Amino acid sequence: MEIKISPFHIRVPEKTLMSDLDIFKQKAIELGAAGAEIIEASQLVVDERVRLKCTIPRCLRAGETPNCPPYLPDLDFIRKAFARYSYAVLFKTLIAPIEEFTPGHTKDKNGLDHTLLFHLKTSKIVYEVEKLAYQKGYYLAMGLGGGSCKDYLCHGQVCQYKDSGRCRFPHRARPAMEAMGIDVFDIIRKVGWDAYPLLDAPEKIPCATSVGMVFIY
Ligand code: SF4
Repeated sequence: MEIKISPFHIRVPEKTLMSDLDIFKQKAIELGAAGAEIIEASQLVVDERVRLKCTIPRCLRAGETPNCPPYLPDLDFIRKAFARYSYAVLFKTLIAPIEEFTPGHTKDKNGLDHTLLFHLKTSKIVYEVEKLAYQKGYYLAMGLGGGSCKDYLCHGQVCQYKDSGRCRFPHRARPAMEAMGIDVFDIIRKVGWDAYPLLDAPEKIPCATSVGMVFIY
């Protein structure tokens, strides 16, 4: 698809906005998403309990990157910022085969734990959809992924930002939706998707997904 660069939008006619949102949704599908939906930003719930779950019990990555708590903005600021958006594109990618991504199950020939990588595809789509939206004039487009950039980008190495102040992937690394306090399972249910706990019995899980989102306007 040839991309037409647009001037930055200040006010977008509703018809243009709806048509562009559809283009961004299709882009997510083209890039490998198993589903994508246009959502109203007001459908998102930011909940203190979700943020608490980053530290109780403590996620391996809490405090290990600037994209994880406690380094992210407080939830009142996040609520105010999210309230300025009208629409976002939400998408999901399938995690398959599930057994390779079940905690502790499979390492590849380089000894890399696949469990750490299941948000990688989601992060690529977040980046590309946000870029396309920016090119089409939505200069406040902002994408969030799932999981920690320390896993899906830096493969568990020491965070270079925390070590020396220079992130290895400054444009690709994003906070997870859940790290921003978004109740991801709530929005998944609202759009009619299913999610199951990814634990250590893959044969009992009908499907596993990773979810990402790009605020557009
Ligand atoms: S250096 Fe790696 S772990 Fe640190 S913020 Fe950047 S992507 Fe994340």
